Amino acid sequence: MEFNLSDRQKEFKRIAKKFSNEVLKDKVKFFDENQQVPTEIIKQLYDHGFGAITIEEEYNGLGCGMLDFAVVIEEISKVCGSTALTLIGSSLGAIAIDLYGNESQKKKYLPDIADGKKLATFAVSESSAGSDISSMKTIVEECDDKYIMNGSKCWITNAEIADIYVVLSKGKGDKYSTFIVEKEFEGFKFGKKEDKLGMRSSSTGELIFQNCIIPKENLLYKSGEGMHMAGKILNYSRPIIGAQALGIAEGAFEDSIRYAKERKQFGKSISSFQIIKHILVDMYTEIEAARWLVYNACKKIDDNDEDIQVEASISKVFASNTAMKVTTNAIQILGGYGYIKEYPMEKRMRDAKVTQIYEGTNQILNNLAAKSLLNRY
Ligand SMILES: Cc1cc2nc3c(=O)[nH]c(=O)nc-3n(C[C@H](O)[C@H](O)[C@H](O)COP(=O)(O)OP(=O)(O)OC[C@H]3O[C@@H](n4cnc5c(N)ncnc54)[C@H](O)[C@@H]3O)c2cc1C
Repeated sequence: MEFNLSDRQKEFKRIAKKFSNEVLKDKVKFFDENQQVPTEIIKQLYDHGFGAITIEEEYNGLGCGMLDFAVVIEEISKVCGSTALTLIGSSLGAIAIDLYGNESQKKKYLPDIADGKKLATFAVSESSAGSDISSMKTIVEECDDKYIMNGSKCWITNAEIADIYVVLSKGKGDKYSTFIVEKEFEGFKFGKKEDKLGMRSSSTGELIFQNCIIPKENLLYKSGEGMHMAGKILNYSRPIIGAQALGIAEGAFEDSIRYAKERKQFGKSISSFQIIKHILVDMYTEIEAARWLVYNACKKIDDNDEDIQVEASISKVFASNTAMKVTTNAIQILGGYGYIKEYPMEKRMRDAKVTQIYEGTNQILNNLAAKSLLNRY
C-alpha cells in the first residue's frame, strides 16, 4: 500500500533528493574519512529550510510536521545518514524548546536554530547513565536568582558545534528538570570528542559543567518535570531516527539492485540467481514495512495523538533493524566491492549500527512499547 504523502511532502522529498544527489553525494567519502562535519553543506541544507521544517512560522520556521521532516531526513540519509544526523540532533533541541518553551524562550532561541545560525542539541546520556537515565549524576542547585549545574554528559550529538544545549539534570529531592544552556555560559566546557565506527561526519562529544551558572529564566517548562518531558521529546524524535535508518536501507537497496543487474559471474548477471533475487525481495519487503511504520508514527504525531509511545518505539526498532540487515546483505551482494572503502556500502553498514543504539536502544524501546501495549489493550 502506497502511503499517502501530500503534494508538499512530495515536493520536500524531491528537493531533498536532488540536493543529496547533486551536492552531497560526491563529498560523503571525504567527510567520513576525515571525520569532519560538512559545515558548508549543512549551511546549504538550512538555506533550503530543512532545519526549520517543524519550527512554528512565527519563529522563522516552516510550520510543517514530523512527516515533512521525516521524508527529508530519509532522502538525505539515502546518500549520507551521518549528514542527516547533524540536522536531527539540532531539531531534537528545537523540538524540546518548541514543545515546552515559554514565549520569550521560543523568541530568543528558535529563530536562530531555524535559520541555521545556531545549532542545538538535547543532552541526556552520561557515562554511567545511558538506558537508566534516572541514575544520572549531573545535578542542579537553585541559588537565589540562578541555577548552578555540576556534572557531565557524554556521546552528545553536535557537542562542540552547537550553541544551544537542552540539558536534563537531577535536582533537589531526586526530581529532574530541563535547562537551556548556552555555549558561552560560565562553567560550561567541552570534554572528549569521540572517534566513532560510523556517523563519522557528525560530531559527538562530552559536555562538562563545573559550577555552570544558568539564569533562572533558562529553566524549560517546570521544575521536576524533566523526566516526563524527555519521554515526550524522544517519542517525537524516534520516528525521525526511523526515517534516517529507512533512508540508509533504501540507499543500500537501490545500489544493490543496480549492481546485481550489472555484475556478471558464470556468464550471467548475478540477479539471475534465485538466492540473490530472494535477498533483494526480502530487502524490499522490509523497507516497505519500515516506511509504513515510520510514516504512520509521524502522522500520528502530526495528528496530535497523545498515545504514540508504541508507534514511536516500533518504527525506530523496525527501521533500524532493517537498516542493519539490509546493509549487511547489500555488502554480501556486492562481494569484495561491498567490503572496501572505495564504494559507499561499508559506510552504510557502519552508519546503520548506531540507529539500533541511540535515542533508546532497541531493547529499551521494546520494553517501552510493551508497557504501552499492555495499557492500551
Ligand atoms: C553516535 C551517538 C550519538 C548520540 N547522541 C546522543 C545525544 O545527542 N544525546 C544523548 O543524550 N545521548 C546520545 N547518545 C547516547 C545514546 O542515547 C546511548 O548510548 C544509549 O541510550 C544507550 O546507552 P548506553 O550506551 O549507556 O548503553 P547501556 O544502557 O549501558 O546498555 C548496554 C546494553 O544493555 C542493554 N540494556 C540496558 N538496560 C536494559 C534493560 N532494562 N533490558 C534489556 N536490555 C537492557 C541495552 O539495550 C544495550 O544493549 C548517542 C550515542 C551515540 C553512539
